[in-house]
Amino acid sequence: MSGYDPLASVGGAAAAPRPEPRIRLAAPITGQEEVDAVAEVLASGILTNGPRTRDFEQRMAERHDAAHAVAMANGTVALAAMYLAAGIGPGDEVIVPSLTFISTATSVLHVGATPVFADVEEDTYLLDVDDVARRITSRTKAIVPVHYAGQPADMDRLVDLGAEAGARVFEDAAQAHGARFRGRGAGSWGDAGMFSFTPTKNITTGEGAVVTTNDDELAHRMRLLRNHGMSAQYVHDVLGYNWRLSELQSAMGCCQMDRLDDILTAKRANAAHLSARLAEDPAIGLPVAAPDREHPYMLFTIRLEPERRARVAAALDDARIEWRTYFPPAHLQPVFESERADLPVTDHLATRILSLPVHTRLSTAELDLVADTVLAS
Ligand SMILES: *Cc1c(COP(=O)(O)O)cnc(C)c1O
Repeated sequence: MSGYDPLASVGGAAAAPRPEPRIRLAAPITGQEEVDAVAEVLASGILTNGPRTRDFEQRMAERHDAAHAVAMANGTVALAAMYLAAGIGPGDEVIVPSLTFISTATSVLHVGATPVFADVEEDTYLLDVDDVARRITSRTKAIVPVHYAGQPADMDRLVDLGAEAGARVFEDAAQAHGARFRGRGAGSWGDAGMFSFTPTKNITTGEGAVVTTNDDELAHRMRLLRNHGMSAQYVHDVLGYNWRLSELQSAMGCCQMDRLDDILTAKRANAAHLSARLAEDPAIGLPVAAPDREHPYMLFTIRLEPERRARVAAALDDARIEWRTYFPPAHLQPVFESERADLPVTDHLATRILSLPVHTRLSTAELDLVADTVLAS
């Protein structure tokens, strides 16, 4: 693993090169099982559009209580596929949080629609349902809650709000593998949900995504979009793309599904350890897990006053402990310069949040070093 940066694929800070971290923010778990599964695919000669992808899809659908799952090349095109399958395009508005990875919003632009940013709750970083309600117009065609750190947003209220507004609800469940809201899987509440498998997530296929849905028609259209709009060999019904996931990635995805429960158990234990240690200092805002949700801790994000955050960040750098701001708000990025947005909570959080390592390879001593470094600054 040395020298490999699992975060490089989601874009790194362009800051001066730092020494290699001693404690990484994310550490994908792969082993001999993945090696063997990929070798088997190579030996089989079926490298795309085959049985591994169907297995992987079925496992993701079952795990998240959805009728269908459609594997896609990555999470960003999978978001676009959900919007296209629902007929969303120019003139339509899609409500998204700004406190998210950029592609929740850029995927809306990719299909020619307009992202409308809504604010989040200060303690959970999840979409503020009342603020979403205020931003609904006659053009609103979809609401896209992001399950921050994998913890599901308030899907009950969002589904009701979507129904009232005549808008679809699409879950950006990119970080939410195995998460549940009121006992039912993330990705089964809205019209569809997207899970990403890029290497920062709890489980990975290198790149990749799966969309879950209970809507037969949406599933059918996403399968067409993924494969050149093709309903039969060289019969192209609609404008399609090549958004397929390869058999190599799907085989790896099945192995990762076998690991998911162990990974979630380890991450929850690490998060509990960090929370218990950091609770010593009441000035540190700890992650809040709502009682009706199963939180997968893809991220462990704390809140600090801005000056304190700067001190903690410097101390973490000195200790070669990797940290990040998840996420610099989308509405402040140059690509969204023209979208004026009044998002007081998001703006407040932007200068306060900091995500700490919580991955499954951390020892108790390493977790304590992270906690000690934060507490001492
Ligand atoms: C990772 C992520 C994405 C993008 O997924 P990719 O597979 O990298 O394209 C979208 N939204 C959120 C919230 C993410 O964390």
